[in-house]
Amino acid sequence: MQLKDKVAIVTGAANGIGRSISQLFAEEGVRVALVDLDQSALDAEVHRLQNERTPVVGIVADVSDETDVRNAVALTLKEFGKIDILVNCAGICKMIPLLQIEVADWDRTMAVNLRGVFLFSREVFRHMQAQRSGKIINIASAAGKIGGIAAGAHYSASKAGVMCLTKSLALEAAPYKINVNAVCPGPTKTEMTDAWGEEENETFAAKIPFKEYGKPEDVAQAVLFLASDRARYITGEILDVNGGLIMD
Ligand code: NAP
Repeated sequence: MQLKDKVAIVTGAANGIGRSISQLFAEEGVRVALVDLDQSALDAEVHRLQNERTPVVGIVADVSDETDVRNAVALTLKEFGKIDILVNCAGICKMIPLLQIEVADWDRTMAVNLRGVFLFSREVFRHMQAQRSGKIINIASAAGKIGGIAAGAHYSASKAGVMCLTKSLALEAAPYKINVNAVCPGPTKTEMTDAWGEEENETFAAKIPFKEYGKPEDVAQAVLFLASDRARYITGEILDVNGGLIMD
């Protein structure tokens, strides 16, 4: 993918899809700043990736917190000198019906899933604009297109916001040759979906034309493509990775 010596920030990098993205980047020789809330999982991941002989750094930060985001971007620049790729992957999903969604659930979901994408993109955009190049890739969700499959209304609405934010950023970033795209996974086997329970997961998997959940690496491969210059002329795209669940 000719990504050697590029620098990437991946949020939500300690687990699931974010971990798989960081792994693929490291294998390609990308220097990665792994951002996550989960200090111990982050330490384990940084330790594991050091075996790839690519410099990586772990940064504990809450993507919904403006100061944390500023610090994370500053630390990445201090460590690696530039940022070529930003992957906004951190997200939370509480599977609850409408009448059980408290205002605090709504606000936290919006803060992490949508405000987090805005904060990181804005902070990195300053740098990419001056650099006149860059790739921003947001992780949306099929739930943001068709409503909650398993997820709550708050989660679905936040992910619909991520897709529209992607297009708005793509328009503003295009004059600087910055590509902004989203990958839109259907149900993917991670701790997030493990929490839904075996029975629910079997029911949902049966509704997917491929009859199985995606793997984190399926999403990561799409991210890798969008981060590469093979996707030079693609921007504002919402790329489905869903085994045929939604075709639009
Ligand atoms: P995951 O296994 O739960 O991993 C998410 C990671 O993000 C965790 O390490 C989590 O840390 C971290 N995180 C949560 N809140 C954060 C915050 N405020 N700041 C920094 N890091 C934070 O989830 P996943 O399944 O890999 O999901 C990754 C992304 O894909 C999410 O945006 C999700 O909405 C999206 N997605 C997932 C699926 C699916 O079926 N799995 C489908 C469509 C879209 P903690 O463990 O400490 O919370």
